[in-house]
Amino acid sequence: MSEFIIQNLQTIQRRIKAACEKANRNSEEVKLLLATKTVDAERIKFALQQGLNLVGENKVQELKQKGSMLQSLEAEVHFIGHLQTNKIKEVIKWATCIESIDRFALAEKLHNRLTLEQKTMDVFIQVNTSYEASKFGVAPEHALELIQQVAQLDTIRIKGLMTIGLFSEAPEKVRKCFRLLKDLQQQAFDLNLSNVDLQELSMGMSGDLEIAIEEGATIVRVGTAIFGERIYPDSYYWNEDTQIL
Ligand SMILES: *Cc1c(COP(=O)(O)O)cnc(C)c1O
Repeated sequence: MSEFIIQNLQTIQRRIKAACEKANRNSEEVKLLLATKTVDAERIKFALQQGLNLVGENKVQELKQKGSMLQSLEAEVHFIGHLQTNKIKEVIKWATCIESIDRFALAEKLHNRLTLEQKTMDVFIQVNTSYEASKFGVAPEHALELIQQVAQLDTIRIKGLMTIGLFSEAPEKVRKCFRLLKDLQQQAFDLNLSNVDLQELSMGMSGDLEIAIEEGATIVRVGTAIFGERIYPDSYYWNEDTQIL
């Protein structure tokens, strides 16, 4: 098991490095986030001990189970799944950043809770750059408006944008998604919003991280290429209506 993870991590780090070289970027600009849905605490701990400190969880239930282990390792924990407002309290407890802010109602509820607890939270705005109905995220044409609204909430610090690229065999279609996220970042920069520092672009996964890095990713979220195939379909994680039978 550990040999498997070590080798996979080396492969991923090589891929990141090669993509950075190709894009003329410094590989220190790109962070590797371990996407750890369905992965047990032991394996996550082992992977983190190989010199990593960034983890992403999709489900509040799993975040709760692994939260204290992650805190004891001082890992940076991002919530990367769809967030229902009734789970905010639990996420605040365990996550250091929420990458999946995709609607104002959610940001507002988060702000209310943070105010009550006298806390602040880093967030990313999730954009549905592939326009697929199955994926969450604000529509690209509404992203700037959402950024401006969320920027008004003083407990929330917008750190960047997040997207899941189109699943496609056609790299140019995938690239279009990532390029759109980068364009939106530039448009947001042009607005010169105070209280907003949108440096991060969280995009790229096991299958498409090279394209994402070429288009400016600062965080790639990798699961299967490190931990192996998952038993649940991704739709379970991306669609709250999907039940495990
Ligand atoms: C699972 C997941 C990933 C990682 O996907 P892999 O294909 O396993 O690398 C990245 N981002 C999100 C939001 C995910 O749910």
